Amino acid sequence: MSIAPRDWQAATTAINDAKGLVISCHLHPDGDALGSALALHGALVKAGRAAVVSFSEPFEVAAQYRFLPGVERLTPPREVPDSPEVFVCFDTGSLDRLGSLAGAFQRAKRTVVIDHHASNTRFGDVNLIDPDAPASAVLCRELLRRLDLPIDQEIATNLYTALVTDTGRFQYQSTVPETHLLAAELLAAGVRQYEVAKAVFETNDIRYLRLLSHLLGRISQVPEASLVWTSVTQDDLKAYGIGMDATEGLIDLVRTDGASDVAAVLKEQPDGGIKVSLRSKGATNVAEVAGRFGGGGHALAAGFTSDRDAAGTIDAIVEALVAQRAATGDAGATGDGRAAAGDAGATGDGGSARAAPSAAASRR
Ligand code: AMP
Ligand code: MN
Ligand code: MN
Repeated sequence: MSIAPRDWQAATTAINDAKGLVISCHLHPDGDALGSALALHGALVKAGRAAVVSFSEPFEVAAQYRFLPGVERLTPPREVPDSPEVFVCFDTGSLDRLGSLAGAFQRAKRTVVIDHHASNTRFGDVNLIDPDAPASAVLCRELLRRLDLPIDQEIATNLYTALVTDTGRFQYQSTVPETHLLAAELLAAGVRQYEVAKAVFETNDIRYLRLLSHLLGRISQVPEASLVWTSVTQDDLKAYGIGMDATEGLIDLVRTDGASDVAAVLKEQPDGGIKVSLRSKGATNVAEVAGRFGGGGHALAAGFTSDRDAAGTIDAIVEALVAQRAATGDAGATGDGRAAAGDAGATGDGGSARAAPSAAASRR
């Protein structure tokens, strides 16, 4: 699905005409959210434009993204203009995902939503939504082109980090030849790719590695739902002296269980709710499952927040998965490990909606 030229035009006009802009992304920002927002902000500021970049409370950048150029220019959400002229947000599927910045968005004179979630509710005045894009950064790069703003090493580093994280290092189904061409363009602009890889994928706190052994030790399979899952509690974090943001990559290990199509990680929040991450290798639409519980995401990577306890949450997920399989007339299970590994491959945050129907059609 591509974005209509008149929508691009509306976005560039809004941004070019604005005397002041607020740029943001979803709360608990990942590499794509933060990288895209920082890239547009850097490009505008370098062109002498007045722009602020921020994201919702809890206003804390996960350790692996603190190296991003321009991260020091992030403005705390409380200092963001209350009713900005233009508000641009990246990677944000619905208004509530802006967290404490939702009010400023609603009070802005003009709003631009740039995203690749199929579930995007199109809550802006201008909506640049392409569910086939492997990352919001792909849309950000096109926006910069249309704004005639150059890409330097810093901007390229933000875009590259967004791209490499949302594509799972170029392995998910959403990765196409243009994805690699964009990566090549960004590397040619000076990105030191190993510095990005080292910060994002190659650096763990030893306390997290120890916690990991504990969390993987309690991993469980639910064969009738083709589900594998584990959980992280606040007590676990306390016992190992580590923050929840360190566990972002946990789901990528859990999902490698060759016998399960769906992986879930339950993360107990400080307020008691449980944040659930879901991934599918192709046979299950986890955005639909997350949607049943008030969440959203992509067909192959989605999430929601549960008010139930861990056992009740897993029971509800199993019930939803079994119901979805019954409705689609397919067991959804990947059979043995080899079948799973040879199936549609893996996806993450960047799993495109397009991948699900084709994977579903080819499932055994
Ligand atoms: P995560 O598991 O947090 O990496 O999220 C996977 C995908 O699901 C991302 O595209 C998120 O934007 C989306 N997602 C996660 N949690 C929620 C939620 N509570 N509501 C809507 N979308 C979500
Ligand atoms: Mn994201
Ligand atoms: Mn994204």
